[in-house]
Amino acid sequence: MNSEELHKRRGAAVARGVTSVIPSYVERAAGGSLHDVDGREWIDFGSGIAVTSVGNSAPRVVAAVREQVERFTHTCFMVAPYESYVAVCEQLAALTPGTFDKRAALFNSGAEAVENAVKIARHATGRQAVVVFDHAYHGRTNLTMALTAKSMPYKHRFGPFAPEVYRAPMSYPLRDGGLSGEQAAARAIDVIEKQVGAANVAAVLIEPIQGEGGFVVPAPGFLPALAAWARSAGAVFVADEIQTGFCRTGAWFACEHEGVEPDLVTTAKGMAGGLPLAGVVGRAELMDAVHPGGLGGTYGGNPIACAAALAAIETMRELDLNTAAQRIEAWFRPRLDAVAAAGAGIAEVRGRGAMLAVELVRPGTIEPDPARAAAVARACHDAGLLVLTCGTYGNVLRFLPPLVISEEQVTRGLDILAGSLLAQLPG
Ligand SMILES: *Cc1c(COP(=O)(O)O)cnc(C)c1O
Repeated sequence: MNSEELHKRRGAAVARGVTSVIPSYVERAAGGSLHDVDGREWIDFGSGIAVTSVGNSAPRVVAAVREQVERFTHTCFMVAPYESYVAVCEQLAALTPGTFDKRAALFNSGAEAVENAVKIARHATGRQAVVVFDHAYHGRTNLTMALTAKSMPYKHRFGPFAPEVYRAPMSYPLRDGGLSGEQAAARAIDVIEKQVGAANVAAVLIEPIQGEGGFVVPAPGFLPALAAWARSAGAVFVADEIQTGFCRTGAWFACEHEGVEPDLVTTAKGMAGGLPLAGVVGRAELMDAVHPGGLGGTYGGNPIACAAALAAIETMRELDLNTAAQRIEAWFRPRLDAVAAAGAGIAEVRGRGAMLAVELVRPGTIEPDPARAAAVARACHDAGLLVLTCGTYGNVLRFLPPLVISEEQVTRGLDILAGSLLAQLPG
């Protein structure tokens, strides 16, 4: 069946609230490309939203999954435990920043991990308020919708939302008048102290580099200042590393770039090579504050997903994917900078490692240009390059290639991208 026929079938079977970026249906995928049922190859600058960092169907992951599937598929860790769950928790403790004693728990999705981090922080502190930031994205469940900033499409008509969620201003160098990290943190802390009250804050929850919200990289010093404030206020500092974690930014976790040691870290996306797995890891005294039976879920830490995660982490080590992410940045940056310099209406090239973006604006302004972002993305899709858009204003093109992508594939992708940007100059 070809994509057109599948699309018709889909229209009669799949809810229209669930959309897809490209019109083609995937037949197989490996490394840095997807192949659709119509026989077309797509260069993948999306990784299924930062998930297939080790590449699609990475050999070690495939072997580990096969082996596990044949031994047992599910027992529920809360019923009959198994080694791989413990091993993934050990890896999370070893790889996240901070040498203090840690504990971890596993879940199915990023949103579920974030919900559990909030549960743990509230339980451990006996407080309720959760502070999040402008442009934040933390998921689509009821609590995480409240934590997410953008109304359309994530929250529109889905309320009422969970209470005791407070939003502080983010450090967004392009759009906050160039505040330093310390100044932006002082502005956020002022809002928190005046509108929430330091003594009420259970958790300060932040993406060290914002994902869905526009790949916003806070000014240096912002994260350390917030973390220090949280510590002094007795609040839990939670880094949502669901998109930034596991080598994506050229480090195991993006907090490392700023020397920040979060109290809790949420992970998902890249950690299990494409299988659904998420985790919360952090200070033992916080994690273990929760009573026995207070955390869990039927599928959390499923043995197949755990086997995949252990194999994915081994692949990250073996192929040194932190260095690979840095190399990808070195391939992208000069091309993106050159297109920006050629007057393509790019206000900023930003990001770290293999988490890069360009923000499109109307010429001579910082007025967002979402129409052009959508048009450029469509032109890329027509030419066989899968790119994603993001941002509160929908005007950011983001690039999240698998970390195993080849230089040749990146070059072909960048040729298409640069061509599409320069063919649709603003004004
Ligand atoms: C994707 C994402 C989530 C939600 O993860 P799901 O697995 O889609 O529930 C939460 N936080 C961040 C930063 C994300 O990028």
